[in-house]
Amino acid sequence: MDLSPATLAVTAGRPPAAPGAPVNAPVTLSSTFHAEGELSYARAGNPTWTAFEEALGALEGGRAVAFASGIAAIVAALETVGPSAVVLAPSLAYSGTVGLLRQLDASGRLRVRWYDPSDLTGLLRGVPGTDLVWLESVTNPLLDVADVPAVGAAARAAGALVAVDATLVTPLVQRPLDLGADLVVHSATKYIAGHSDLLLGATVTRDEELAQRLSAARHDRGAIPGPFETWLALRGLRTLAVRLDRSSANAVELAHRLAGHPAVERVRHPGLAGHLGHDVALRDWHGTVSLVGVEVAGGAVVAERVASSTRLWVHATSLGGVESTLERRRRWAAEPTGVPEALIRLSVGIEDVEDLWADLDTALRRAAG
Ligand SMILES: *Cc1c(COP(=O)(O)O)cnc(C)c1O
Repeated sequence: MDLSPATLAVTAGRPPAAPGAPVNAPVTLSSTFHAEGELSYARAGNPTWTAFEEALGALEGGRAVAFASGIAAIVAALETVGPSAVVLAPSLAYSGTVGLLRQLDASGRLRVRWYDPSDLTGLLRGVPGTDLVWLESVTNPLLDVADVPAVGAAARAAGALVAVDATLVTPLVQRPLDLGADLVVHSATKYIAGHSDLLLGATVTRDEELAQRLSAARHDRGAIPGPFETWLALRGLRTLAVRLDRSSANAVELAHRLAGHPAVERVRHPGLAGHLGHDVALRDWHGTVSLVGVEVAGGAVVAERVASSTRLWVHATSLGGVESTLERRRRWAAEPTGVPEALIRLSVGIEDVEDLWADLDTALRRAAG
């Protein structure tokens, strides 16, 4: 049966149906397993990982390997290229990835060439001579949309691999492996788990040899996810489709309203017709993302006032939970300086949109006044 992604999110990775068998994969808390079976020591494998990996792999169309965090998955992905490999990476993207690549470049482990994610022509020009191109499906927090098919074609011609951090889109919005990527990484901490209660990461690829190397890297380096976190993430994944339907619809509605707000200078969301990458998103995505970037008038001070004065919206970092959160990204020293000082990143949750709007509108008017 050819099942749709929303159905697979519910059904994939379940134990075989048998009278009296559990419907859901139980959490298996054991560091070791009786000898002479398939399982041995739990750094090599655990049935709870397998259930989560089957579900995510079915959704992405590849083989998934779970890691202790998104960053652990990214480290493992970057380890798949050899010493001094040339990596073409976005200068404005998730601060953890940019910071990690800066460290690996400074230590000589990798040679990083930076591209501007709002300039596709410049990016494509940079592909020849690189070993790995790093993309974010849509960048965190500026929401520049990657043209995965165009970069995939250029990378194939140049003999380079393409890795896509698809955290913000999830496999329900975009399947990078179908679009020409070799490797997908996720911070499952965010939408996949969806409840702001754990950290988890994953890689997904169709290349069996690459999957083996990633699994070996997890075993050898020990960046293993806890079975309980993995179980919670799978539980979260079951409701991903309905959560995203609601949160992305809320995000689009709020983005439109914010675009007409007197206290707001600029709104970034791929669902807005004027957004750079709107057309690529329409072409490659099913639905849209639940983050909105808002630049408020009056700079950093006013932005901080907004972020700290909401009552329903939670002033906190991270994203992708059922609850709406917001923060001024440049409050972090590690945030790339290309991110505007007055940019507030909204992670829109599944609350009632009118409640979200009333709280945000009040905070914006008070801070501006
Ligand atoms: C949060 C995040 C990560 C890092 O994931 P952790 O689970 O926090 O280690 C990587 N990429 C993106 C786009 C993120 O938002």
